[in-house]
Amino acid sequence: MNNYVTEAINLKSYNLNDADKIILMYSKDNGLIKGVAKGIKKPKSKLGARMDLLVANTLQILKGRSMDTILQAQTVNHFRKTRENYDKLMLSSYISEIIVNLGEGSENASEEIYDLLFKALNKISNASDKKEMLIATIKFQLKILLILGFCVELDSCLCCREQVLDEEMYFSSSMGGIVCKECNEHLGIKLKMHYKIRDFLQAMLQFDFDFESDYDRKANEKVCQVCFDLLDEYIKTHTNKKQKSVKLVKECLV
Ligand SMILES: [Zn+2]
Repeated sequence: MNNYVTEAINLKSYNLNDADKIILMYSKDNGLIKGVAKGIKKPKSKLGARMDLLVANTLQILKGRSMDTILQAQTVNHFRKTRENYDKLMLSSYISEIIVNLGEGSENASEEIYDLLFKALNKISNASDKKEMLIATIKFQLKILLILGFCVELDSCLCCREQVLDEEMYFSSSMGGIVCKECNEHLGIKLKMHYKIRDFLQAMLQFDFDFESDYDRKANEKVCQVCFDLLDEYIKTHTNKKQKSVKLVKECLV
């Protein structure tokens, strides 16, 4: 079979020559894939804006010996509102960068990852305020870590394995989650975690992506920003990759 059809989201592009570009995408069926978009740099390209970054398409792809070629693309979602708002673009680029950095070798979970990426981009695009955008991003951070096997421990102390019911607890990115007050007496972790933050994160991790719980409604932007920063640090610690979203945003705005 030389042709195949899949749904994919454009994450990154590279110049191949004067007329063509290589597009790196995350696909529903095969995880990270690359394809040549022929003639994309010419004014009358038939692929056109469908190959812009952060666009979801149904693609027809021709399998090549060294590189696949994108034959046709039909846009499923252009996430239009994301392109009109700097915060939306920043956060969408941030999550797509996580997929670029960590998506390799994830073919077995590609449908789950694709759905999560699509839902997060869509939610961010349609968000009415910063808090809503951050909540979608936090859910993405927690769920992608779970799928990829770097799940954050938010229930039991990483030292004594007892469930943490106390209001006081500590958080260690390098250890992978929370530590109780007693165990921390000899560990000396500086970062204190408020139990309300822990409960909020736990809810974000456990509930379905689309489910809007009381936690979503009660959280404010400041709490969401604290959680985002905490998880960003966690992702950096566990994946050794630096996010370069700012660069990606510039590419998107061109
Ligand atoms: Zn403990």
